[in-house]
Amino acid sequence: MTGLIIGLLLAAFVTLALGVFNIQWNFFVKAIHRATTSTRQIALTFDDGPHPTYTPQVLTQLEKYGIQATFFCIGKHAATYPHLIKELHRRDHVVGNHSFTHASTIDFHTRTKWLMEIQQTDGVIEQTLGKRPRFFRPPYGVTTPHLAKALKETNHAIIGWRVRPYDTLNRSSEQIVRTILRKTKPGDIILLHDTHERIVPVLEQLLPALKHRKFDMVTVENLIQQDAYKQD
Ligand SMILES: [Zn+2]
Repeated sequence: MTGLIIGLLLAAFVTLALGVFNIQWNFFVKAIHRATTSTRQIALTFDDGPHPTYTPQVLTQLEKYGIQATFFCIGKHAATYPHLIKELHRRDHVVGNHSFTHASTIDFHTRTKWLMEIQQTDGVIEQTLGKRPRFFRPPYGVTTPHLAKALKETNHAIIGWRVRPYDTLNRSSEQIVRTILRKTKPGDIILLHDTHERIVPVLEQLLPALKHRKFDMVTVENLIQQDAYKQD
């Protein structure tokens, strides 16, 4: 009997731990990972920028293929490089909120601290673009009950991903591209980062390969048919 109880407790604990660490489980917050679509639309997303060196290079690649993407920006970087936020917007890409600090201890934030992270970043983007983002992506894809409570107040749409090639880890650009091409299906949201030098060779191979497979790369706003900015 005791064994059974311990077993059940263990199972509950494992479920909870996986819920915290895997955004795709929709455990504490309901996140959007893909769209149901009859077309071949997909959305490329770039996290953790803007970066003074790599974001402009990513923009050049996207422009070359006439592609619109979504950038989940860290508030403190947006505050340092407002001209890059303006440039993203000017080129019809979408800017989303990815917290202010992206601190490694962010999972331990209380509701109040989460609210600060989210509202500070909204504030920087609003000051720069005159628009407040509606899309939020949790750093590390981690969701906690405290974040869920904060998001209930801020009313953001939570954007996850379905394809994650781990492009910031020590993998070659060929490996990263292969993973994406193998996994991507119509309607998918793909997680990339505009913060490392490999993103350029990745995009040089990936964008023509996705085009060749007849994928139509659009913003998350167009993919899921929801406004990227708040209307009030
Ligand atoms: Zn991130």
